[in-house]
Amino acid sequence: MKRVLITGGAGFLGSHLCDRFIKEGYHVIAMDNLITGDLKNIEHLFKLPNFEFYHHDVSKFIHVPGELDYILHFASPASPIDYLKIPIQTLKVGSLGIHNCLGLARVKNARVLIASTSEVYGDPTVHPQTEEYWGNVNPVGPRGVYDEAKRFQEAMTMAYHTYHGLETRIVRIFNTYGPRMRLNDGRVLPAFIGQALRGEDLTMFGDGSQTRSFCFVDDLVEGIYRLLLSDYPYPVNIGNPDEITIKEFGEEIIKLTGTNQKLISLPLPKDDPKQRQPNITKAKELLGWEPKVNRAEGLKITYEYFKSLPNDELYKMADHRGF
Ligand code: NAD
Ligand code: UDP
Repeated sequence: MKRVLITGGAGFLGSHLCDRFIKEGYHVIAMDNLITGDLKNIEHLFKLPNFEFYHHDVSKFIHVPGELDYILHFASPASPIDYLKIPIQTLKVGSLGIHNCLGLARVKNARVLIASTSEVYGDPTVHPQTEEYWGNVNPVGPRGVYDEAKRFQEAMTMAYHTYHGLETRIVRIFNTYGPRMRLNDGRVLPAFIGQALRGEDLTMFGDGSQTRSFCFVDDLVEGIYRLLLSDYPYPVNIGNPDEITIKEFGEEIIKLTGTNQKLISLPLPKDDPKQRQPNITKAKELLGWEPKVNRAEGLKITYEYFKSLPNDELYKMADHRGF
């Protein structure tokens, strides 16, 4: 049985990856310090003999007994309000955390896949973004703690590949959504759906003309799985190119939820990227991958999930983990 370590395994994406690797017959070790994750996301796996959970901060030395075939480094705060509240931990998990994972991989002779992000392109001047674009990041702006950590993480991973011959993969993930996102994580989809469910107006930042391209989580997981098993060590964009303005997106959520509330405009956060759309030619050619779930289907599934949550989840404040 192949063995995989998934850091950030109790988070949104990490938990879906745990499910996928269990389904594929792997022994899965999830590691998480629960700073933004939740054991509820993986509690259904606890009874399985081929699943283990380690409560550990990966910015500190990592010890895992036994062999490892793959390490997926997904630990990192991921939403702007999270990484603005815990900026130093964000920088540490993207630097010390990946260093620990790469060191562990050398000892175990394991292949490493890292979760990078469309944020490495910053506020892009090239549109749609190809992997060859170097980005437009403000290193000392508020988002710099996340963007630069991820850029460092890519550089460190490439260095281990080049200088130590380690097998590495880099996925640049574009905005992904689905069940198990935290309702209060501040990202636009849970924010809008949470507001609609509570009967509040939907808070659109700026005039809503900025764009994003939203990918359903199952599509992303399929792309990551294929990339891991490929032989391509350079970055690959995985995302859904179906681009939409945040204003149009808000209107879709109003329609989906049937709320009587309206979109209201709040100030646009500093350095908020104006446009974002993945060019997925590489993923198509190298992995034979493209997204299958359209936004209407994906939003419906996600809305059903949020509706099924207990009422107290809906009113939990963003700082419930004591940030
Ligand atoms: P998330 O916050 O739900 O998951 C992150 C997980 O990492 C959480 O469970 C958290 O507790 C854990 N974690 C954070 N720091 C840790 C540390 N030092 N040690 C151990 N565990 C730690 O976020 P997510 O959306 O699932 O994102 C997962 C990964 O994917 C992140 O690396 C993120 O940067 C990347 N990513 C996500 C998206 C997206 O749209 N969801 C887009 C681009 C990149
Ligand atoms: N956004 C918004 N209202 C919210 C939260 C976010 O209008 O309540 C906007 C935000 O300014 C950005 C877009 O939605 O332009 C996506 O934000 P999110 O935090 O989901 O992801 P990211 O900016 O990291 O792509």
